[in-house]
Amino acid sequence: MNPFIYQSHPARVLFGPDRLDSLGDEIVRLGAGRAFVLTTPEQAGEADRIVQRIGALACGSFCGARMHTPVDVTEVAMAAVAEAGADCLIAIGGGSTIGLAKAIALRTDLPQIAIPTTYAGSEATPILGQTENGVKTTQTSPRVLPEVILYDVNLTLGLPAAMSAVSGMNAIAHAVEGLYSEQANPIISLIAQEGIRALASALPRINAAPLDVSARSGALYGAWLCGTTLGAVGMALHHKLCHALGGTFDLPHAQTHAVILPHALAYNAPFAVDAVARIGTALGRPDAAMALYGLNRSLGAPTSLRELGMPQTGLEKVIELTFAKPYWNPAPLDEARLRTLLERAWEGLPPAA
Ligand code: NAD
Repeated sequence: MNPFIYQSHPARVLFGPDRLDSLGDEIVRLGAGRAFVLTTPEQAGEADRIVQRIGALACGSFCGARMHTPVDVTEVAMAAVAEAGADCLIAIGGGSTIGLAKAIALRTDLPQIAIPTTYAGSEATPILGQTENGVKTTQTSPRVLPEVILYDVNLTLGLPAAMSAVSGMNAIAHAVEGLYSEQANPIISLIAQEGIRALASALPRINAAPLDVSARSGALYGAWLCGTTLGAVGMALHHKLCHALGGTFDLPHAQTHAVILPHALAYNAPFAVDAVARIGTALGRPDAAMALYGLNRSLGAPTSLRELGMPQTGLEKVIELTFAKPYWNPAPLDEARLRTLLERAWEGLPPAA
């Protein structure tokens, strides 16, 4: 066994149908009594329902969360939180909403209760990405890790099938890179492998029947495991490429992960033999990169950067950004191989053998 360091993060996780019923108790348990609810404009109805549900424990809401946590949005939300005299934050939504709560927690140290409604996994990480003047920067701090996560499967039933597919692939990407991470360790590898298995089993069932509660529970469980992996160990080339693509060309986050993942795994495969074997076991097929490409296709998820609106002329910029500030990666960075990876991903071709 390779030497390793394992550092756990505190987590209080409540999982199950109707978990939202516990929200009031969890606010009180935190010693709070003035909860401020955050979400996106699209989920404003959810925020209203939460405010009604917790009654006197609520002190206000802000429904302006946006992708990639723009600092100007955080500043507007901060003013509303201060005016309301909030003593805790409730984030109901996907990674964008949870990112806003983290950004406020970083500046105020207010405790957070995250109620995830996608599979992005941000709720389980001490990582915050923020965008200012078109530049996205990422930092890690225990201040941004939510104190409580409430996973209520009922809140995920309305996530459209197409978004469920790409959000699930985004989660799988965390676990794939966790298995070949520089900080890979036996506990996180168990969690990551099980996360991939749970999502790969659930996503086709959700695609066929979006209201299937058992499949939705499986996906949410997988999302938690994959998010835990992301929060515990460093990521590699796949996340670097998605960061460069999303930040520079404003591509949709989860869709970009879905497109790039099979290609990044194929690139790393010869240098991550054990990880690839475990990913293959979790997917039920030994050719892990092709299995992920096939999963994307069977779910109707995007397979090309072209269909996400990426200009082909931008590929060189992505290579430049990848070399400018590289992440640790199992395979050495090779300009020609990277160009092939990106060109195949742009075209929507299967990953290189
Ligand atoms: P998102 O939060 O932007 O959600 C996409 C859209 O779907 C939004 O309009 C949202 O309101 C809507 N939505 C969410 N749940 C829904 C539901 N159940 N039913 C109907 N609509 C729903 O998308 P995302 O992929 O969850 O998050 C992406 C963001 O999260 C990016 O900014 C990314 O950088 C960040 N992220 C951060 C981390 C981290 O650890 N810091 C991890 C993963 C993602």
